[in-house]
Amino acid sequence: MTIQPSSNQAAPSNEAGVLIVGGGLVGASLAIALDAAGCRASLVEAAAPPARSVAGPDERNLALSRATVNGLRAIGVWRHAEAQATPIRHIHVSRAGEFGSARLDAERHGVEALGWTLPARELGAALQHRLDECRLLNRHVPASVTALERHADRWRVRLNAADGARELEAALLVGADGTDSFVRRELGIEARVEDYRQTLFVCTVASEREHAGRSYERFSDDGPVALLPLAERRCGLVLTVAAEQAPEVAAMDDQAFLALAQQRFGWRLGRLSRPGRRHAHAIRRVEAAQLTAPRAVLVGNAAQTIHPIGAQGFNLGLRDALTLAELVAGANDPGAADLLAQYAARRAGDRAGTMAMSHGLVRLACLPQPFLAPFRSLALLAYDRVPPLQRLLARQGMGFRGESPRAVLERLP
Ligand SMILES: Cc1cc2nc3c(=O)[nH]c(=O)nc-3n(C[C@H](O)[C@H](O)[C@H](O)COP(=O)(O)OP(=O)(O)OC[C@H]3O[C@@H](n4cnc5c(N)ncnc54)[C@H](O)[C@@H]3O)c2cc1C
Repeated sequence: MTIQPSSNQAAPSNEAGVLIVGGGLVGASLAIALDAAGCRASLVEAAAPPARSVAGPDERNLALSRATVNGLRAIGVWRHAEAQATPIRHIHVSRAGEFGSARLDAERHGVEALGWTLPARELGAALQHRLDECRLLNRHVPASVTALERHADRWRVRLNAADGARELEAALLVGADGTDSFVRRELGIEARVEDYRQTLFVCTVASEREHAGRSYERFSDDGPVALLPLAERRCGLVLTVAAEQAPEVAAMDDQAFLALAQQRFGWRLGRLSRPGRRHAHAIRRVEAAQLTAPRAVLVGNAAQTIHPIGAQGFNLGLRDALTLAELVAGANDPGAADLLAQYAARRAGDRAGTMAMSHGLVRLACLPQPFLAPFRSLALLAYDRVPPLQRLLARQGMGFRGESPRAVLERLP
């Protein structure tokens, strides 16, 4: 339905509260952060658990930055997830067939871990657990938002739930409804879309050698491959192939798939074996042309969907959510124009920087042109050896970017 401005002046805006459309990883985190800050909010999620958990039904293993874990700890989620997480103590970035690599080492930067790996379903379960503890939050699950109507000081939102249609009001409408956001479309916010023509295969594998908390990213002409450390000598594998090759890879039996993974990753961890269930993801980049509209804001994948290889999507989305919660917590009117302007200004640097880094990594590191090889090798060596570059890479790798929300901050050595 199209948006119809109206002059209707009903309920005061701050009584209507915040309405979050989409209870995925980012929407759920925002709902929890608002509840923890004592703010009234409603959360509408289309899919019912357990058919689809907060995290979705796949085998993703998420690399969570140190800043993200600080944020999850601050809103009471991490205690439900911690036991399932594996610390990332070293990061190793390289390119097949070229010299030079960039390495980051937690100890060298005075921390016990640069980040943690957590299966997405475990993060989903922890969020679900924490949502159940929220006291001010109204949850509408399963229910789909089907229409938005704009009034002068609030939104009227129509939901379809199993027990019928109903309407809610909101002083601030939050689109946390993912890559193909209904809210974004209804707000009339344009999105730039780029199809990477790549498919990512995700599964877990066992490694012959101990990973010792090492996370690997390896680039090649065929796209990037990553291995993330997990418990019990297993790793989360992310293998990129060109979209045309995807049906052939999807049809491979385990042995053929392992042989491909081994050829692409190399032998740093010895022989890879015992692959778990495989899931395929087609990869698009989607960037909303703006983050806000009157009394409305986009967060997470609805605002920007980026290539997973830099492992930044949720990390970035959580910083969206925590920044918004911080601003709303200190405001009388959560949908006030100056609050939304502050939000957009505070998110601009982090968002642009992270998107450019992720896109640049995929484009530059995977381009086959041989003339680029020496420059790429030198860049990796510089990041590895030049202390200020190392420090910058470490800070950014740990998720401390732009004007961070207070909940993620810590004093680093
Ligand atoms: C293979 C892969 C690996 C990844 N690895 C990492 C990683 O290592 N680190 C990292 O930080 N990120 C990673 N990401 C990115 C991360 O998974 C996403 O950024 C994150 O899940 C986005 O969460 P979201 O809540 O914004 O969106 P979504 O998870 O898409 O959630 C949107 C929710 O909105 C609901 N919804 C939609 N429309 C409506 C409606 N009309 N009414 C009600 N509800 C609605 C949907 O049901 C859904 O639950 C990876 C992604 C992929 C694909």
